[in-house]
Amino acid sequence: MTFRSILRNRMTVPAIAIIGGGPCGLTLANLLERKGITYVVYERDESPSSNREGGSLDLHPNTGQLALREAGLFDEFKKCARYEDTVFSIADKSGSKILELGQGRDAPEIDRSELRRLLLDAIPKEKVVWGHKLSTVELGKDNRPVLRFTNGTVLSGFKLIVGADGAWSKVRRLVTQSTPRYTKKSYVVSAIEHDNPLYKRTASRVGAGSSLAIGSGKFIMTQRQGNGSYRNSFGLQVPEDFFRNGIIDLRDLEATRRLLLSDFFADWSDEHKDLVRYSTGFQAWPLYTLTTEDMDWKTVPGVTVAGDAAHLAYPGGEGVNLAMADALKLASSIAEHGVENMNEAVREYETDMFPRVIAAIGESEAMSSVMYSEDPQAFIQLICS
Ligand SMILES: Cc1cc2nc3c(=O)[nH]c(=O)nc-3n(C[C@H](O)[C@H](O)[C@H](O)COP(=O)(O)OP(=O)(O)OC[C@H]3O[C@@H](n4cnc5c(N)ncnc54)[C@H](O)[C@@H]3O)c2cc1C
Repeated sequence: MTFRSILRNRMTVPAIAIIGGGPCGLTLANLLERKGITYVVYERDESPSSNREGGSLDLHPNTGQLALREAGLFDEFKKCARYEDTVFSIADKSGSKILELGQGRDAPEIDRSELRRLLLDAIPKEKVVWGHKLSTVELGKDNRPVLRFTNGTVLSGFKLIVGADGAWSKVRRLVTQSTPRYTKKSYVVSAIEHDNPLYKRTASRVGAGSSLAIGSGKFIMTQRQGNGSYRNSFGLQVPEDFFRNGIIDLRDLEATRRLLLSDFFADWSDEHKDLVRYSTGFQAWPLYTLTTEDMDWKTVPGVTVAGDAAHLAYPGGEGVNLAMADALKLASSIAEHGVENMNEAVREYETDMFPRVIAAIGESEAMSSVMYSEDPQAFIQLICS
């Protein structure tokens, strides 16, 4: 490379490389775009429509919604937000409904794919580079991070790398040695599409929003999605290798149904068993978490992490909101300090993040323990307290 091309390369390298085009990375991209700070997003998915799993997310006023407001996207969000889907009912394993709540709650739902579309539509296409899966990041001779992608691309020269690359972040190891631990809990998710024989009954039983049944250390949640279909989450307590050791092969629909019915939901109501008998597309989602003790590291020049990459927790309804709040704080710190004082900006962001997420991780642990209870009482006490 000639001196001239090195110079040209330096001059065109954006200030910030964001790894991961999930809710956190794309919210950050939108906020930086509005503040006129240069950035590029590297995402492992091949295209915006790559079908990564993930259901409906509820956005809260002071975090997820606030980030969208600051990004100038709140009006667009309102067009596709499902305010009627905040209602949810709680039952026991016999099917007796105990409580219905959430009506009018300011936490509208949006599908993950819809949120991605909303965030992508507002930034220039060329600023998101698809099909770039980060393989490693390490500090180069000049102490600046060097990014290596699985497709052979090697990049450096950014003033800041933001790891918004989710649970199994490759960037995280530059700031902390902590790794997620298995919670001993997993979700098995499945779908009830419009053409499912159970669809009509589910639609009249659950309607808008979701229904949750808790019993004998397990739960079943059924939630309406943006296209009107329903998504079930079966909460199980199983060993980490349960879905890999041959006990269950979720691609075998009939065997999966048999095992769930005999070993997990044998004493549940027929209404709940039908969700197993009729739903399709079973997938496993083993749940991992970082702990509150992990939320403590010294700021590393030129690198930080945000969203699940920084503070993966049991899904208690805060994950995406915390991720978007991280993006908001990080973008405003960078704008305030300027890209020439990136380390100050990152220090300020991380100092703000630790106490915020420590509280949230604690709450998600509490939520996790009551959702896997013998009956719904502890859950009801927690959410009504
Ligand atoms: C079963 C389940 C249910 C959940 N339900 C809820 C809920 O109801 N409400 C809620 O608030 N939260 C929920 N969450 C949590 C929520 O999904 C996350 O907290 C949120 O998506 C975090 O956003 P993020 O952008 O930090 O990470 P992610 O959403 O994980 O996005 C990371 C992005 O980085 C990309 N990526 C990953 N690795 C690489 C790499 N090496 N190179 C390049 N790109 C990479 C990914 O493709 C992805 O686009 C749930 C989580 C699970 C597992």
